[in-house]
Amino acid sequence: MTSRTIASVAPGIRTFEGEGFAVRRAFPTSQLDSVDPFLLLDEMGPSDLSPGEAKGAPDHPHRGFETVTYLLAGRFEHRDSAGHAGSLGPGDVQWMTAGGGVVHSEMPGRDLVECGGRLHGFQLWVNLPARDKMIAPHYQEMAARKIPTGRSTDGLVFARVLAGEAFGQRAVIVTRTPILYLHLTLDAGANCEIPVPTEFGGFVFPFRGDLVAGIGAKSVAEGNVAILATGGDAIALSHPGTDDSAREALLVAGEPLREPVARYGPFVMNTSDEIRQAFRDYQSGKLGRILPEISPLDKE
Ligand code: MN
Repeated sequence: MTSRTIASVAPGIRTFEGEGFAVRRAFPTSQLDSVDPFLLLDEMGPSDLSPGEAKGAPDHPHRGFETVTYLLAGRFEHRDSAGHAGSLGPGDVQWMTAGGGVVHSEMPGRDLVECGGRLHGFQLWVNLPARDKMIAPHYQEMAARKIPTGRSTDGLVFARVLAGEAFGQRAVIVTRTPILYLHLTLDAGANCEIPVPTEFGGFVFPFRGDLVAGIGAKSVAEGNVAILATGGDAIALSHPGTDDSAREALLVAGEPLREPVARYGPFVMNTSDEIRQAFRDYQSGKLGRILPEISPLDKE
């Protein structure tokens, strides 16, 4: 394997999403617009919330891409205009293909709202190729226990394989275009090379402690995004060795779409005309609405 170098490192920023929950945004920022085919990465928390403090993202639309929610702590409930409803807990993944459009809500679980507690997770936006932008919405929900895990032969690197493949483990989630999405934990002394297909673009996002990445052993601070250079079929990652605490990072890579991107808020299309159409369709109700919950009593 030939390790890639790190092309550049961009700092994440602190901002707010939805009704006002704190996120660390890897991108888009003023320094980094996107990493084709990825449009956004937000880290929610980690926050220790007091009772009543948890906030979410009430009814809002999406069209033209996929939202991938990966929770490490807390609970999120989602509902959408296509009639899907679900609950996401620690380690669970929801891969939502918005396609032609959904209206959905992403709200903290009732326990988290009423009792408070820790919230930590990620939302990644994956762009869809032009041919798939208007497909029917689709959900994949994967309970934590169904996410394959692998370990390096020396035991020092642990991977949860959300998409793609690592340490001989293949993900169960199906992606529209080839994607690698790994949650990596590196113990002290860890030094590994993770295969990343040559044609993929991608990045490393350390979210607990700093990491050393790529040829030339570039130091990447927590909360920064290290962009993989082209050339090479792997990325070298190691624990910096300055202390014994484990490091955690996301490694995300995928086949670039190399298509024009027109994005505005919750819509990501190829042209500004398509964005205007998305707004018209949303305003005229074509993306649907979330129907009130039917209780078991109503069904009788
Ligand atoms: Mn959303």
